[in-house]
Amino acid sequence: MSLITATIRTDALRHNLAVAREAAAHSRVMAVIKANAYGHGAPAVAAALHEADAFAVARLEEALQLRQSGIAQPIVVLSELLDAEKIEACAEHDLQPVVHDLATVETLVAKHVIERLGKVAETVDAHSGGRGLTLWLKVDTGMHRLGVPPDDCERVYRQLVACPHVNEVRVMTHFSSADEEDDAGITDDQINQLSRATGNLSGIQKSLANSAAVLTHRRSHAEWIRPGLMLYGADPLAKANDLSVCLRPVMQWQSRVIAVHEIAAGAVVGYNGTWRSERRSRIGTIACGYADGYPRHARNGTPVVVDGNIVPLVGRVSMDMITVDLTDHPGAQIGSTALLWGDQLPAERVAECAATIPYQLFTAVGGRTRFVYTD
Ligand SMILES: *Cc1c(COP(=O)(O)O)cnc(C)c1O
Repeated sequence: MSLITATIRTDALRHNLAVAREAAAHSRVMAVIKANAYGHGAPAVAAALHEADAFAVARLEEALQLRQSGIAQPIVVLSELLDAEKIEACAEHDLQPVVHDLATVETLVAKHVIERLGKVAETVDAHSGGRGLTLWLKVDTGMHRLGVPPDDCERVYRQLVACPHVNEVRVMTHFSSADEEDDAGITDDQINQLSRATGNLSGIQKSLANSAAVLTHRRSHAEWIRPGLMLYGADPLAKANDLSVCLRPVMQWQSRVIAVHEIAAGAVVGYNGTWRSERRSRIGTIACGYADGYPRHARNGTPVVVDGNIVPLVGRVSMDMITVDLTDHPGAQIGSTALLWGDQLPAERVAECAATIPYQLFTAVGGRTRFVYTD
């Protein structure tokens, strides 16, 4: 059996979804479960979050896997390179692709694509009620990564709506700086830009807010919010607020102490001897390294919880192991549990010590970790 386990608390997932709903009571929730639900296991997370109004993933492949595992809710595909085949697959599997580039508009109006979508419609629409494609048009309001310029929004929207087999077009944008304590008005400016870009379009559904904006920018909530990180219980905000402190960590990532050594004062630990003991010390070795997803750049002093006590990481993170200072906790021994992050130790804190973000920590958990889902 695997030494490393990620216990995924589905009750915490549902609690965090409720926090998002409480924050944006008038919006529907598109739960973002891309990248295997931020490393938590997409099919299981989707099943646990069955009350979400829709799901969002990055690529078509991820959406198809969810359909294969029986997820029936609408699924938005956020960042695909949409060619004719992929658009056809979206129609076939009732997926909602994000159109983020003018080239996709050209594809959608091409005669052979319209014909293919017509064929799909004949077979699929019979059981999906003849709806046709729901598309999301992405507008670039400042991220400069994906999307059409705000000035093109209205024209492209009308072009998309006029496409045969397109049932509905919704509009979205993405914030660059909503997580900052003071973003110098950037988020408000992005909200204003989208509202100007869609000013002449009545009755459209819009989506702007990521987790950070859900928690901080009421004006951004609109018809659909798109929380990701907050659902997994990590605080997306640089500075926590009243809502974000209610979030509960979902992943409890644990391993065990596999060796304990006494070392003399002045001895060094690990590759390149980057940590030197100031006293006679008891060093514990834990089975979890960067190959398992533990951040290699975690610095000396990064907290780890051994048998319920916070102890400091000492020495470099290796591929399969880390080392911690157990001197002040003589009860800790071979077999003791080591929590890498979870309830007692937010992933945000570990991320800070490794100069990274919880997003990266979660999505890196892999390989030798056994996943357990509890209620
Ligand atoms: C990942 C993603 C989100 C979710 O962001 P969080 O910060 O995790 O809430 C929302 N929208 C888009 C377009 C994304 O790519």
